[in-house]
Formats: sequence, C-alpha cells, structure tokens
Amino acid sequence: MNHEIVIGLEIHSELRTRSKVFCGCANEYGAEPNTRTCPVCLGMPGTLPVLNRQAVDFAVKAGLAMNCTISGFSKMDRKNYFYPDMCKAYQISQFDLPFCRDGYVDIEVDGQTKRIGIERIHLEEDAGKLNHDPYAQGSLVDYNRCGVPLIEIVSRPDMRSPEEARLFMEAVKEILEYTGVSDCKMQEGSLRADVNLSLRPFGQEKLGTRTEMKNLNSLRAVQRAAVTEAERQEALITAGKTITQETRRWDDNKGESFSMRSKEEAMDYRYFPEPDLVPVVMDEGWLARIRESIPELPQARRAKYVQEMGIPAYDAGLLTGTIQIADLFEQAAMTCGNPKSASNWIMGEILRQMKEQEGDSLDPGIDGIRLGSIIGLVERGEITQASGKKLLEAVMGTDADPVVLVERMNLRIQRDEGAVIDAVVLVMKNNPQAIADFQAGKGKAVGFLMGQAMGLLKGKADPGQVKSVLEAKLKEFDGGAS
Ligand SMILES: [Zn+2]
Repeated sequence: MNHEIVIGLEIHSELRTRSKVFCGCANEYGAEPNTRTCPVCLGMPGTLPVLNRQAVDFAVKAGLAMNCTISGFSKMDRKNYFYPDMCKAYQISQFDLPFCRDGYVDIEVDGQTKRIGIERIHLEEDAGKLNHDPYAQGSLVDYNRCGVPLIEIVSRPDMRSPEEARLFMEAVKEILEYTGVSDCKMQEGSLRADVNLSLRPFGQEKLGTRTEMKNLNSLRAVQRAAVTEAERQEALITAGKTITQETRRWDDNKGESFSMRSKEEAMDYRYFPEPDLVPVVMDEGWLARIRESIPELPQARRAKYVQEMGIPAYDAGLLTGTIQIADLFEQAAMTCGNPKSASNWIMGEILRQMKEQEGDSLDPGIDGIRLGSIIGLVERGEITQASGKKLLEAVMGTDADPVVLVERMNLRIQRDEGAVIDAVVLVMKNNPQAIADFQAGKGKAVGFLMGQAMGLLKGKADPGQVKSVLEAKLKEFDGGAS
C-alpha cells in the first residue's frame, strides 16, 4: 500500500432484554414471521411507545464498560426514512444527546496496547427483516425484529489496518458478552458492523473520501471486507481516479463489494425530538447501580492471570473465552489454592467435555467451589488423579457434593502402611514363580507383583507407597536368600 488506511466502525448490537424497546412484545429470535408483533411495533396510528428501562440500563452499562461519559440528560429522536422494513416510516433513535460519549477500548496489536476511541453509543430500535422470495416473486416482510432494542457503537477513525478493525470488533464483542448486554450471536445478526474506510497519503492529517460497507456479520468478514476495499481504493487512486462517497454492500461468498447508493447525510433524515417520549434524566443513584453490576472485564482478568497467578498468556486467553469459564477458574483456583492446577483441570477436562456436548451451551456443568474441592482432594493426595476424574464425571450436571461422594464411592487413598505390607507379603507368598523370575533378573516380575498388590488394595492405595514397600520386601527377600 502506498497510502495509510483509516478505518472507523459502527457496531450494532441487539440488547438482551426480555421485551422490545417500546412495547411488551417478546424479544426473541427465530419465531414464526410476524408472531411477535403488536400495534405499537407495527406503528399503528394512535399507539404510544413506552421506553424499556432495562434497555437504557444496558446501553449505559455498555458505555461505562467502554469508558464513556454518561449523559445526565438524554432524549430520543425520530429519524425519518421510508423503507418497508419500518412501517412507521421513521425509526426512534438518538441524535444529538446519546446516552454515552467519548469512551475508548484498548486492543493488543503485536504485543502493544493501542487505544481506539469511541465517539458515542446510542439506543435505537431495530427494523424488520425483508425476505426476498423468488417463489412469491417479491419480498416478504417479517416485523418480529421491528422494535428490538439496539445500541450503535460509533468508533473514532483510529484503526490503521484491517487487522486492527477485527481486533477492535473482537474486544467490543467480549465486553458486550461479559456485561451480559448482548448475546453477540453474529450468525443471527445480533451483532453486526459497518466498516468506514478511506485512504490518505502517509503523514497527511486530512481524511480521504470514505466508503461505508454495511452489515458485516462475522469478525472474518470485517477484516476481509476492509482488505478488499483498501485494495480497491488504492487501485482507483493509482489509476488517477477519484473515490466516490457511497454505501457498498459486501458479498461474503464472492469476496467483493458492490455500490448500493451514494452516502446519505444526517440532514437527509430530518431528525427531530421524539414527541411521544419524555427525555431521560439519569441521577447518580441510578448510574451507581449500573456501575456496580459490571463484572471485571476480560482484559483485566487476563493481565491478572498472567502477572499474579503465573498462567501462560495463551492459557489465560482460553480461560477468559467466556465469563462463565473465567468465573469458574477464579473460584476453583481460590478453593484449591493452586491456579495452575485449576487451569489444567479446566482446559483438560471441563473444556473437553463442553466441546463434546451438543449445542452451544455456555454452562460448564459444575461450579468453581466443587471443582476446586475435587482438585484439592487430588492435590493433597487424598484421592488419585484417576479417582479425581471419576469423581468429576459423577458430579458434572448434578448438585452432588464431591466430599460426600468421595466416601460413598469409596475413593479415598488407603495409606495404612500395615495394610500395604500385609498385601505385599501375601502377594509375594502367592506368586513364587514371579519371585523366581525376579531373582533370575526379569524386571517385568516387579510390575506384575505391583499390579497384584494394587488390585488387592482395590486400586485405592498410593502407588508410590506400594512400590517402595514392595521394593524393600524384595530386597529383604533377595538378601535373605543369598
Ligand atoms: Zn410490539
């Protein structure tokens, strides 16, 4: 590239509220078309919207988690446009007084922290969905999504490569998931991004003419679309042509984008304050309650795992994959007192079992306290590693107490030295051939005797203890014989 790439993202995220933003219809994906609608979200004359408080909480929560300033006074506005996916012919959104402004999200680029500015986060309603049906020879519209609460996160044009755009999108997704604001199911469209991209000569301050690519619904699509668009613009500039400010549609199958329309300006929408809704005044108490509900975020947790718990960076990345696993890890590590062991058990046993399960459940099937207590039993040598796995399997998906089960399943290691000696002596007495083999120098005989003794002790003995008793007895026997 002979030019510097400048990228800004507009990320739309559906909020995980139970009902829609201005009516009581269920906010759920996948229902029969037009079965989650009412006169309000269908925009019937005479209906009035009522703002969903949970949606406001979520918008502000996302803003706080992304270091934004929260407006004490906000209002909703009408954005006027005509398109069949929105039957009112306007969308209720926020224009000049969004809930959140001037935040940032840090990303890691080649081991360096880079800060990406957030210009604003505002609340709005989603539109319906047009299904282009070749059999009906036209388009069918499904209004189930109409009125689903949405936040739009507008970044500053701070990204300088397609990779940075993807990393930023990933970081935002992680924050929205940890805070529980959105389920971020990109394949269902609950998180999607518009990529604004322009080029400029290196060292130039003024931004070039930008294009906007709409509705990218995977992290990979964000990066690929940005790479392709940067190359397209570079080729145009090299050929002496100018870039047109426009909206483009990205076709992920073809790996190409197509011009949709010239980019509209804000004035085209004739924004005006929504007359059917009162402004939102947010006091300190309300704000404090939202602030308290924000959990520790993945970036801070990764740093803590690496620096304070001695976990390798790669493992810390896996352990913070979801908040459910991160919480499980922290609780298990605290209970057993050994973060490294907790990490090994989660990455070895828990993540493997979750992968084998059907569906995309985030539930690890056990809580950190019980997992930590199983690990503790193994760590203290009270049960063997194999018994630990057996115990974990029995506990997973139930509310059984491993400390009770360990007795009921009779898993505790037998450490009574007298019992071990008795078993070894009995085994030696009953297997004269093995003793003869041992004396003839056949090493395999020791393993055989060891197995017999462990069997006699029902597999609950400490193998190290049995081995040392057996070796001592064989030595005695050998010495006595010669
Ligand atoms: Zn409705």
